[in-house]
Amino acid sequence: MENNLMYERQNGFAGLDNQTKGEIYSFCEEYKQALTKAKTEREFCDLSVELLDKAGFVSLDSKDSLKPGDRVYAVNRGKGVTAFVIGKEPIENGLNIVGAHIDSPRLDLKPNPLYEEGKMAYLKTHYYGGIRKYQWLSIPLSLHGVIIKKDGTKVQVNIGEGEDDIVFCIADLLPHLAQNQAGKKLSEAFEGEKLNVIAGNVPADVDKDKKKYAVMEILNQKYGIVEADFVCAELELVPAFGAKDTGFDRSMIAGYGHDDRVCAYTALKAIIDTKTPEKTAVCMLVDKEEIGSLGNTGMQSRFFENILAKLCDKLNNNYNELLVRGCLSNSSCLSADVGAAFDSNFADVYERGNASYINEGLLITKYTGARGKSSASDANAEFVAKICRIFDESDVKWQCAELGRIDVGGGGTIACYLANLDIEVIDVGVTLLGMHSPYEIAGKFDIYMAYKGYKAFMNS
Ligand SMILES: [Zn+2]
Repeated sequence: MENNLMYERQNGFAGLDNQTKGEIYSFCEEYKQALTKAKTEREFCDLSVELLDKAGFVSLDSKDSLKPGDRVYAVNRGKGVTAFVIGKEPIENGLNIVGAHIDSPRLDLKPNPLYEEGKMAYLKTHYYGGIRKYQWLSIPLSLHGVIIKKDGTKVQVNIGEGEDDIVFCIADLLPHLAQNQAGKKLSEAFEGEKLNVIAGNVPADVDKDKKKYAVMEILNQKYGIVEADFVCAELELVPAFGAKDTGFDRSMIAGYGHDDRVCAYTALKAIIDTKTPEKTAVCMLVDKEEIGSLGNTGMQSRFFENILAKLCDKLNNNYNELLVRGCLSNSSCLSADVGAAFDSNFADVYERGNASYINEGLLITKYTGARGKSSASDANAEFVAKICRIFDESDVKWQCAELGRIDVGGGGTIACYLANLDIEVIDVGVTLLGMHSPYEIAGKFDIYMAYKGYKAFMNS
């Protein structure tokens, strides 16, 4: 009785047997590789398809009909993927969905990025998502993305990850001349229009814009592109460094893009390891969460409903709107996104009793939002109880917390858009230190619990 009476929270590694610890550490080795390899939504989508193919999933379009145990996926414009394992129960009983996003904060190139100023060639950027601008100066950056040429051919760009590759950098102001800047408010000291990346310095033998011209000559030689092709491109600057262990005990991973690839990767592994569940299991990886989930690759798009309609049709061989609507109404979803771990260096923005802590388990966030739960998706208590029960029965250690202190800020996830579809939804993810920074920190125990928790839910 004494043991069960109080909700005790402790570090998940405390008293953990060596075998489980070994499983956790080896799972995280593969995750680190994925995080280092796939740094953009397109790259993570490609990696997901590669892993799904290997695990026997096939494209939804390649199947005429579906039966329990079938494994299919649908790709959304190369920037998102939704995978299904068909369950034993009829589809109208609903789906068990784990949804995560695969876009991360970064610097995008503007449509007309290249210019010359102060005897140097630069690329102009437009930041994507909620970044703290000062964090992107004086760090090595790599350039990832695609350029679509006029003839329709796609040029894949990946510069800055190879041993001998160049890296990009935004030079910061020297402290000796920073007196004026140092007196400014943080929000005014760093301007988006000044996040310009150095592109080249050697002039060409032409009359004007010599350095800009010289950069264009190199790009033309290497990729066959002309300056106007930048308009038809999606080029993203991300940190050039890879994911590494941190802490002398190697209990954490520092890396770019844990938000939200830590949930995306664990959800993907969970569906790959799901055989024939009772209800149809879904792993949904979407784009554009960091900028409001709009657009046809974001969670607010009808993409999911459209492929669900297709799936229902292939299951029953006759499309029926009521079937799709009924399926959505009976579905449950874990909105798999990251939370903010208590950080003693910034203790004043947290409320200790309702904060999450690194390596204390999978984070359940009943509601998000800001200033009096505004814009929150607040999970129903009945549904929270169901999720806690599933986790407890599968030995998934969890913690429940809010993002931070009341009225110091807030945030949201894709949860509200799934709730709009009449789906039961709750935020369940991994807590992070340094969220949205170029080098975020996640706990290995929490990462493994995410995998275990998502798998238990998909098989419930
Ligand atoms: Zn996120």
